[in-house]
Formats: sequence, structure tokens, C-alpha cells
Amino acid sequence: MEIPIFYGKRANDDKIETIMMDTEVYSCSSDNCNGWMRKDFATADLHCPICGHETVKEIRALPKI
Ligand SMILES: [Zn+2]
Repeated sequence: MEIPIFYGKRANDDKIETIMMDTEVYSCSSDNCNGWMRKDFATADLHCPICGHETVKEIRALPKI
């Protein structure tokens, strides 16, 4: 069975075509923590899923899911 010669290039193309979306996220307000979560997957109390600190809403450009 032949291995398609374009396989590697195709993978790169897929990466380039990733669509970035301005997305609401909740970012940990602790200086010692880089935790954040997408609004769609936020914890019920909007506290950081990593350290439990309060979070602040911000907009980030993230790959569309
Ligand atoms: Zn945190």
C-alpha cells in the first residue's frame, strides 16, 4: 500500500486553517496561577478550576471548537 506523498503537507494545511474566535473566558485573578476556562465549560461558581480563586471575565482569541 502506498503512503500518500501529500500526507505531511495536508497536516500543515489543517493547522493553518484553524479558525480563531473571540471567546469569553474566565481567567484566574491570582498572580500565581495561569488557570482559565472557556465560558461554555466554566465551573458552576466561576472559581478557578485549578486553585479555586475567583476569576475575571475576558475575551481571548481561541481556536473554534
Ligand atoms: Zn487559579
